[in-house]
Amino acid sequence: MSQSIAVIKGDGIGPEIMDATLRVLDALECDLNYEFIDAGLAALEKHGTLIPQESLDAIEKYSIALKGPLTTPIGKGFSSINVQLRRHFDLYANVRPAISFPGTRSRYEDIDMITVRENTEGAYLSDGQEMIDDGNTGISVIKVTRHGSERIVRYAFELAKKNGRKKVTAVHKANIIKTSSGLFLDVAREVAKEYPEIEFQEMIVDNACMQLVMNPHQFDVVVTTNLFGDILSDLCAGLVGGLGLAPGANIGEKAAIFEAVHGSAPDIAGQKIANPCALLLAAAQMLDHLGMNEKGDAIRHGIRAVLETRRDMVTPDMGGTGTTDTFAQALVEHI
Ligand code: NAD
Repeated sequence: MSQSIAVIKGDGIGPEIMDATLRVLDALECDLNYEFIDAGLAALEKHGTLIPQESLDAIEKYSIALKGPLTTPIGKGFSSINVQLRRHFDLYANVRPAISFPGTRSRYEDIDMITVRENTEGAYLSDGQEMIDDGNTGISVIKVTRHGSERIVRYAFELAKKNGRKKVTAVHKANIIKTSSGLFLDVAREVAKEYPEIEFQEMIVDNACMQLVMNPHQFDVVVTTNLFGDILSDLCAGLVGGLGLAPGANIGEKAAIFEAVHGSAPDIAGQKIANPCALLLAAAQMLDHLGMNEKGDAIRHGIRAVLETRRDMVTPDMGGTGTTDTFAQALVEHI
C-alpha cells in the first residue's frame, strides 16, 4: 500500500530543491503520495499565518513530512516555524547525520557519525521560564527531566542498534551543571546498561569539542541535551564541509519531519544553482524511517557517485558547473 506524506515545498530555494528531490524519489519508485501543504511565506500570503491549522492537521494525519526550508519573516510577532512544529508535535529527537562526501572542502575523509539532540527541553525554554529582565540581569533556566533524558538516550541506543553502530557517547557538563546535566548523565548511564552490546562512553562537552576537531573518527552516535546538541551538530556539519550536505530529522512519537539544515537562501533563490543534496539526504533519512533503507542507501550512494564522477552536473557551491536540475538528472541516471 502506498504511503502518503505531507510535503512543504518551502520558501526561497525550497521549491527548486524539493522538485529535484521528488524527481529522485519518483525515479526510485518509492510508492509515495505527496500531499502538498502550505507553510512559511506562501501560507502567510494565503492564510495570514505561517503555519495554518490545516497544514498541522495534514502532518498529524500522515505523520511524516518532508519539508523545504522556510523563511521566518523578520519583525515582531513571528516566532520560528520550526520551533512551533517541534513544540506542537513534541518532536523530541533531532537526528543529524554527518557523513563525508567526495569533493567537499573538509579536513577529514570518511566521517560517518550521527548527533542525537534532545529537542524539547534543556536551555531552550522561551515560554516564560526566563527570569529577571530589568536590563541588568538575565537568568535562564535549564530544564532536564528523567522522562526527557530517558527517551532521547533510548532513541540514540535504538538508532545505534538498528544501524549496526557500535558506540554511543553521552555528552554532558555534569561536573559543573550538576543538577540538570547531572540528571541527564545519570539517566544515560542507566539506559546504557540495557544495551550491553553497544559501547557506552561519556564525555564532558568541552573535551567533546576538542576531540571532534582532533579525532572525529572515534565517534559513532553522540547523544546530548538541547543546547550542546545544537552547537555540536553544527560543529559536525563543519567537519564534513558545511551545511550544504547536512540533513536533519525531527522525530516524535506521533510525527516525524525531515528537512535540510540550511535555510531558504533568498540570495540565490530562482537561480537554479541551489544544491539539493541536504534535502535529498533528508529524504534518504525519511526512507530509512519508513523501512525503505535500501532506497535511502541508493540516494546516499548515488550522491557519492555523482559528486565523484559528474562534476559538470554538480552545483557551483560544490565546485561544479551544473545546476539543481542537472544534479537531479545525474542522480536519476545513476539510479
Ligand atoms: P541560509 O542557510 O538560507 O543561507 C546561508 C548561506 O548559505 C547563503 O549564502 C546561501 O546562499 C547558502 N546556501 C544555503 N543553502 C544552500 C544550498 N542548498 N545550495 C547552495 N547554497 C546554499 O541561512 P540564512 O541566510 O541565515 O537564512 C535565510 C532564511 O532561512 C531566514 O529567513 C531563516 O530564518 C531561514 N532558515 C530556515 C531554516 C529551516 O527552515 N530549517 C533553517 C535556517 C534558516
